Amino acid sequence: MATGKGRESDPGSEAGDEREAVESSAAGSDVVAGGGYPAACDTPARKLLYDMVSIPSPSGEEERAAERLVDFFEANGREAWIDEVGNVRAPASDAVLLTSHVDTVPGDIPVEVRPAPPDGELPEPSDVRVGEPGEPVLWGRGAVDATGPLVAMAVAAVKTGVSFVGVVREEVDSGGARHLIGDRDAPEAVINGEPSGWQGITLGYRGLLEGTYVNTSESGHSSRPEPNAIQHAIDWWHGVEEAFTPEDPETAVFDQVTTKPISVDGGLSDDGLAVETTMEVQLRVPPSRPVDEVHELAEAELSTGSVQWGDPMPPVMESPRTELARAFRVAIRGGGGDVRLLRKTGTSDMNLFAAAWDRPMVTYGPGNSDLDHAPDERLPLSELDRAVTVLTDVCRKRL
Ligand SMILES: [Zn+2]
Repeated sequence: MATGKGRESDPGSEAGDEREAVESSAAGSDVVAGGGYPAACDTPARKLLYDMVSIPSPSGEEERAAERLVDFFEANGREAWIDEVGNVRAPASDAVLLTSHVDTVPGDIPVEVRPAPPDGELPEPSDVRVGEPGEPVLWGRGAVDATGPLVAMAVAAVKTGVSFVGVVREEVDSGGARHLIGDRDAPEAVINGEPSGWQGITLGYRGLLEGTYVNTSESGHSSRPEPNAIQHAIDWWHGVEEAFTPEDPETAVFDQVTTKPISVDGGLSDDGLAVETTMEVQLRVPPSRPVDEVHELAEAELSTGSVQWGDPMPPVMESPRTELARAFRVAIRGGGGDVRLLRKTGTSDMNLFAAAWDRPMVTYGPGNSDLDHAPDERLPLSELDRAVTVLTDVCRKRL
């Protein structure tokens, strides 16, 4: 878009123009990508997504992406700032808080818009079809997890005047969300941004308990029969696996405690006098089991050694019968969609929000979560548009 003289001399009118641009879906004015936008990026929402996906934002390096978001809010007449941990804060009506994460996992995927392949052709490694044949699809790290949801929320927040926060570090330790729940009052309702597909809403996530097992035994000849620290670690882990093997093999993964060693390290100590071992483990916890009980059962399998447990991420299962969930169903059907209620076997920041705030919550966002962290992460642009419409409908209903 050409820059008019009046606009340059009057920043106030620029904000007005941009606000109108969002409302009318006409061309926007902010170009940071350089060299302009692909032809399909022809609305403010699509342009913002293109910019945000073009700015690398792995966990811990979210600053430039956060600044772009602040610019977007300010250009639309909204107050916004970056808080002490790096979150983008844009408070307004707390009838709804829209929040998603600014960080992505690492990985460079060239940012481009390509048409979805014809029927029957899936040249992409994930073997997942997204988009109707020929429709424009934006490729890039974060397009799905969770920059697409983040941008849909920023645009819906500007259109409706509800509160927005873009949090940092979701992919590593949820540092941004942990700071947020200690730093603000509970909003009346929370919509957390993660890909559910524009027709889906996510109501449940399993919890997560992480621990580090440490043990040491005296070194001796390896022909001796007494178990050393490595064997103790293996024994403990076998005990944990058995303790959580479901009696009914048909149990859905979402309803199971699943156990996973993440790293193992062991051998002779530097001074040669001991055998040491360290094992990092994760236990995923369904909403049907208290985290404390899982923790105690895992501890009970210890005969020697010790486990240092991290802060647990509690499981969450929201009711599909809240007014918030109902508003989503109505909005998705209004857009011609078939509503899907989802629960996920991993975690998200909604686990923390639900533990801290006793308010209705839903996780929602454009994108197919099979492409989370994938080398062919990509989002059909029409999916972004539909999600913006659904979010805008839901927020308006609650105002
Ligand atoms: Zn995510």
